[in-house]
Amino acid sequence: AAPPLGQNVIPLVNKLQDIFSQLGSASTIDLPQVAVVGSQSSGKSSVLEALVGRDFLPRGCDICTRRPLVLQLVQTTRRGDEVVEWGEFLHLPNRRFTDFTAIRKEIQAETDRELGSNKGISDKQIRLKIFSPKVLNITLVDLPGITKVPVGDQPTDIEARIRTMILSYIKHETCIILAVSPANADLANSDALQMARIADPDGSRTIGVITKLDIMDRGTDARNFLLGSVIPLRLGYIGVVNRSQEDITSNRSIQDALMYEEQFFRSRPVYHSLSDRCGIPQLAKKLNQILVQHIRTILPDLKARINTQMVTLQKELATYGELTESKNGQGVLLLGIITKYSQSFSSVVDGKNEEMSTV
Ligand code: GDP
Ligand code: MG
Repeated sequence: AAPPLGQNVIPLVNKLQDIFSQLGSASTIDLPQVAVVGSQSSGKSSVLEALVGRDFLPRGCDICTRRPLVLQLVQTTRRGDEVVEWGEFLHLPNRRFTDFTAIRKEIQAETDRELGSNKGISDKQIRLKIFSPKVLNITLVDLPGITKVPVGDQPTDIEARIRTMILSYIKHETCIILAVSPANADLANSDALQMARIADPDGSRTIGVITKLDIMDRGTDARNFLLGSVIPLRLGYIGVVNRSQEDITSNRSIQDALMYEEQFFRSRPVYHSLSDRCGIPQLAKKLNQILVQHIRTILPDLKARINTQMVTLQKELATYGELTESKNGQGVLLLGIITKYSQSFSSVVDGKNEEMSTV
């Protein structure tokens, strides 16, 4: 099965890419980047990992993510039933990592190579591509968390530096911000929401993610956070339960953790009426909807490009008038093919079709 992120969007994008490749142009669907922001240890890496459905990010330990990790998911074509997935780092060209644990170790090792092991932080990216037939072509960015007090090798202005680094990613209009805040702290103190508001004041591309619902103070729950009554957010909030440090230490799998999460929400009546705001699958669904919406907005542009291409080709065809019968025949054939694809493309555009609405 496809991982949570991209389910339902993948077939749609594939169809469009097919049309484009038949027309001779390369991939044209640029999906927005998704970046996670929040305080250190709020659960950012855990959320990203759960969305991708694979274990490969350093998590836990006091400060794991010390350099921005730019994670490019690249969809490969399926060969039969065999699913081949691997990772490749920009700094280690031509080396395929098929073992995802080795990927995590390499991220840690590469962080240490640049920074030493004493908690230093750098804005020099680590770039990792994950190749898989099951993913959407999208870029995810895991960022260091906001901290206030310098430790180890950190400079005195550590907080300002991290904030500047984070802003340089999330300020882009095309970046979807996952603002991660733990449920066991007051939302009004959330660094994530504060940063997101600077980069995206009208909240049109910020999704609030509340983690650690399982370790809230006894007698409290996250209903008010999720309802947006503490801090309203246009795209709303999703509450999640990731793996605890103990789960990580005991190598609990993602699948296991997702099952646990589902059971957590099922067994707590306070969350029953909010089931569309609870759980990683709901977060993925929300993201997928945003991606589909994004594709919808860029479609008219793509359509216009195809039309221009058609006009050019029609003109070119007209110039073949004096050429031999067979060349002319080829031109007509080509035009026929293009018209056909343009039509099937239009049906994807105009139909506001099933694939889109089932997301
Ligand atoms: P990051 O620094 O924001 O990337 O946070 P991590 O994803 O590395 O998580 C920090 C720590 O919090 C790890 O020990 C995780 O196991 C733990 N953690 C993250 N999310 C949850 C959650 O929803 N519930 C519990 N119990 N622990 C969590
Ligand atoms: Mg992290």
